[in-house]
Amino acid sequence: MTEAWRPGDDEPRGASGPVRVRVPAKVNLHLGVGPLRRDGYHELNTVYHAISIYDELTARRGDTLILTMEGEGAGDLALDDSNLIIRAAHALAGYAGVPPHARLHLRKQIPLAAGLAGGSADAAAALVACDALWGTGLSRDELAGIAADLGSDVPFLIHGGTALGTGRGEAVSPVLARPTSWHWVVAIADGGLSTPQAYRELDRLRETGAAGPPLGSTAGLLAALRQRDPRVLAPNLGNDLQDAALAMRPSLASTLKAGEAAGALAGIVSGSGPTCVFLTANAAEAERVAAELATAGVCRQARVAHGPVHGARVS
Ligand code: C5P
Repeated sequence: MTEAWRPGDDEPRGASGPVRVRVPAKVNLHLGVGPLRRDGYHELNTVYHAISIYDELTARRGDTLILTMEGEGAGDLALDDSNLIIRAAHALAGYAGVPPHARLHLRKQIPLAAGLAGGSADAAAALVACDALWGTGLSRDELAGIAADLGSDVPFLIHGGTALGTGRGEAVSPVLARPTSWHWVVAIADGGLSTPQAYRELDRLRETGAAGPPLGSTAGLLAALRQRDPRVLAPNLGNDLQDAALAMRPSLASTLKAGEAAGALAGIVSGSGPTCVFLTANAAEAERVAAELATAGVCRQARVAHGPVHGARVS
């Protein structure tokens, strides 16, 4: 841990002006869900991928800790101590021994409860923003350590890129590959799905023999990523939570079908849903498929995105 600012120091370190952090959404290219553990989490074998849909958090100096927001979910998202941004700021302040004082403003584009880890992204942004504002100077690994206590996806959103996630998802190691951009269409649904409920539904489907066979190892997907050809990657995408999301929201089957009919190479439910993501051959194809999905009326909004992109960063 670095030496912390102490009350009474003449000149607190850190930024005097606002700190702006951009943080991406994530999709899981492979989400292998193992058995339920004794701590209530499932053992995961996943490949995370950060895509170019961003939330932006601005942090300014203040005398208390306060959060305001605009954009996706404004009016629905609680801005009190239950918000992951506030919890992240308290966690960092406690770790570094500084007062948790900041004025935070969130501009949200990542929809709530969508399977895109928007809440986790905001927690990652809060850690990076407050670290810069307060001059606490933690390493990415130290921040990822605090992040793991806030949520299973939060460490990945500190790092970004494409990465392997194990344990309950919090143990992250980068997938090293020559740079390639993958082109996605992100079909955002009306309303959200609850992640704990999706995991419970998967357990139920498995108990009754109604779930598909588990995905297992990430080896096939990792080999496909190295080939840098979307047609090779497409059949290797997979998500064990997809059956659960489809059981909870049967209309997602039409969304997946519409994307593939529009020419996407593959479509999967993102995380615990209800967002569906489609892999396309290139940027122009992504634009075309998004336009078709938007007119097909099978989602609230269809957006193009590319990945991998960086994790939470001061911009
Ligand atoms: O870690 P996070 O707080 O984001 O997880 C939300 C919920 O999702 C957990 O409370 C748990 O019900 C479920 N979950 C799980 N196994 C994981 C990750 C999440 O069962 N590996």
